This record gives sequence, C-alpha cells and structure tokens, in this order.
Amino acid sequence: MTDKMQYERPVIKPLNTGLMNKFGTRTEYEPFTHIDGVAVADIIKEFGSPVFVFSERKLRENIRNARRIFETRYPKVQFAWSYKTNYLNAICNVYHQEGSWAEVVSRFEYDKALQNGVPPDKILFNGPDKTDSDLELAAQNNSPIHIDHLDELYRLIDIAAKMKNKPRVAIRVNMDTGVYPMWDRFGFNYENGQAWDAINKIMATGKLNLTGLHTHIGTYMLSAEAYGVAAYKLADLAINIKNVHKKNLAYIDMGGGFASHNTLKGSYQTGADSVPPISQYAEAITTALLNAGINTEELPWLYLETGRALIDDAGFLLGTVISNKRLADGRRATIMDFGVNILFTSFWYNHKISPAQPFGNYTEDCVLYGPLCMNIDVVRENVTLPPLNAGDHVVVHHVGAYNISQSMQFINLRPAVIMIDMKGKPHMIRKQEKLETLERDEVVPDYLSKFKL
Ligand SMILES: *Cc1c(COP(=O)(O)O)cnc(C)c1O
Repeated sequence: MTDKMQYERPVIKPLNTGLMNKFGTRTEYEPFTHIDGVAVADIIKEFGSPVFVFSERKLRENIRNARRIFETRYPKVQFAWSYKTNYLNAICNVYHQEGSWAEVVSRFEYDKALQNGVPPDKILFNGPDKTDSDLELAAQNNSPIHIDHLDELYRLIDIAAKMKNKPRVAIRVNMDTGVYPMWDRFGFNYENGQAWDAINKIMATGKLNLTGLHTHIGTYMLSAEAYGVAAYKLADLAINIKNVHKKNLAYIDMGGGFASHNTLKGSYQTGADSVPPISQYAEAITTALLNAGINTEELPWLYLETGRALIDDAGFLLGTVISNKRLADGRRATIMDFGVNILFTSFWYNHKISPAQPFGNYTEDCVLYGPLCMNIDVVRENVTLPPLNAGDHVVVHHVGAYNISQSMQFINLRPAVIMIDMKGKPHMIRKQEKLETLERDEVVPDYLSKFKL
C-alpha cells in the first residue's frame, strides 16, 4: 500500500437547479467496504471477481422477523421457502433450519427439496407443469399438491383411483384484488365461479382430500390491501366449503409476492421509501382471516411462501471496474466485470451500487455496462457515481432474489457464491464455474471430433 494521494481528474458538470433528488443526494455514495465485518477487497482477493455474497445473519434475521410479525397476529403460521427465488442448497437449508418448509414449482425443485431432507409432506407442490409421474410421486409421498387447472385435476383423479390413500390437494385460486394486470393465468378464478366449480368437482369425486386453498396474487406487490382482499376471498370459499360440504380446511396459503426494498425502474420513489413493511401485509392478511367469520377453534393454518422479501437484501454482488470510456455523446461509460447474464434483475430494477473504497467529492452521471459483447448488457442506464478507476471495486445491493436462479452462462461463466456465517467467516456455497462445468454434458459425435484447418 502506498500513502501517496491518488490523482483525481477534474469533472465539469452543468449546474442543474431544482433537480435535486428530494430524498437527498449522497445516499448512494457512501463507500461500502465491509459485509458483516469482512472486507470486500479480501473477499474478492480470495474468491475472485465478480462474486456473490450472502449474509447468513441477514437471512436468519429476515425470516425470524417475518415469523414474529405473523405469529404475533395469528395463531397458526407456517412459512415455506420458495425454491425458485434462490435454490442454492446452503440457502434453502438456512431457511429449513429456521423452520420453513419448501415450496416448489417443478419436479427438479421437488427433487432438490427431497434431497435437502425436507419431509415430503412439508413440500408444497405448485405450478402449471406437473406430469403424471410428478403427480404420482407427490401423491404417494403425501405432499400437498396445489392444482392449477382442470386437466391437472382430472389427471390426478385418474391417478388417485389406483391408489389406497387419497392425495392431499389444494386448488390455486386467482382473483381480482384491485391490482392490475390481474394474474389470471394460474389457477381457478374466484369471481367467475371456476374456483367454486373446481372445489365441487373435488368434493364430488371422493378420491381426493381437499386440505387447503392457495393463491399467489403476483410478485413485488406494492399494495398490502390486495392481500387483505385475497385473504377475505379465500376465507369466503373456506366458509362455503364448511357450509355446503361440512369440511374444515387445514390451511389457507397466501403465496409470496411481498415487495423487497429494491427500486423499480421508472418509479419516482426509491424502494426504501415506497415498499410497505412486512407488518402491513401481515396486518391485512390476518385481519381478513380473523374477521371472516370462521370459528376460532377452526381457524386454518396460514401458509406463506414469501420469497424475495426474505432474501433480496441478504445478497450482494461484488465486482470490479474493467475500464472507463467516453461515449460519442459525451457521457461517461464504465465497464464492469459483471453483466446482465448474472444480474437478470437489472432489467427491471435500478440497483443501488456503492463504490467499495473511499473516494473524493466529485460525482458524475455515467452508464454502467457489463462485460458482455452485447448491446443490452447495461447494469445501470444512468447512475451518479464518483469517478471509478480500473481495478476499483463496487458492491451491488439487494441481489439475493432470483439473480442466481435466473443466471445464465451467456458469454461468461458464472461466478462463485459465498456465504458469510454468523461469526463472520466466509464459506464458498457454489464454486466458480469452469469450462468443464459447461462441457460436462456436451456430446461430440465421433465424426465431428476432428478437423483440419
Ligand atoms: C415465485 C413464487 C413465490 C415467491 O414469490 P416472491 O415474489 O419471491 O415472494 C411463491 N409462491 C409461488 C407459487 C410462486 O410462484
């Protein structure tokens, strides 16, 4: 290390009056040098750049906080970790250690939950894509199957006819919650009677055990009231089931969708200023369930499949500046070593990005590009940052949800993922990909194995 002051080139900026961000200007510009006490520079030195980092402390804090908020408002609460939000086994197991079940939307995720050791009757099987063999396995395992459409219902009735035990089922219900566009492609509609029709069909066959009702009204939902409406409509169905079919449901599953503190592109306020706290969602849901008219002794369990709101702020992406350049229109462009192939959510979020080392007073608007040779590889279209030099590190915040599970090996291989444990020790939870990782399943026919140039 040298003590010599770094040269900082002067920047000329037009003076904009009246364009101050009303929430202050410097919030994004604090250097962010450590995660849970571990220096960003040290993590990059040991594990390379870019690298994803998860805070186990934050993961546990988030789920404990959410549980406390719901359990103080309702007597029977069960969380199930949404696998697709982030299905690295180390991450899933943190949630399972905290008492969360598993929520899966494909056979691959179902198998992953089984392999992690989740008891099969604690794996909620959602989604529109369940083959006969998936349904058969889930039914034999006594996993709750959340039926998506009529064809699936009939196939399951057919499968159940050959079984001794009645498969445990719920139906997924979609409804008008006052938030549009409505998610009506999954499940049975409440308002037009599809949901009630499916319920009657299930009760009439006698081959299935209707144990619950499920909904997932959308994702990154900024309206807590929408959950109140949804919970009230599901409770109404449950009461009708009780009245008409004399059956108490074991659970009402409210799905996921609570917003995380990211900032949506085009939104005026930052996520931190506009996103309801979990307590507001909890208040809306539990108030609706408790006041719907169900006897206290017969209250169903409340299942929650919260994904992004429990993990987004526990995940960071650390990266390094490759180079700077001037665009033809004069804007500063900074090229980072991470791109949209591993930061899929940058298509709809303006991610908060902090330099990871101290800097001076100047800032400049710039475009942050990823390293891919592809025009759409833009991490931030316009962000005000102090001038970064090649080799400088940055931290991208709130990347815990969906980026890992949606990442792809387009042009570049995917980086290592680290978890910092409760004592501040980093652990590798997924290795950096190598050429072999990608080619392991490739097959080159003999006649294509040689060439001469
Ligand atoms: C994706 C999904 C979730 C989790 O959604 P978040 O918005 O991440 O909370 C929960 N349930 C179902 C059925 C899903 O498809």
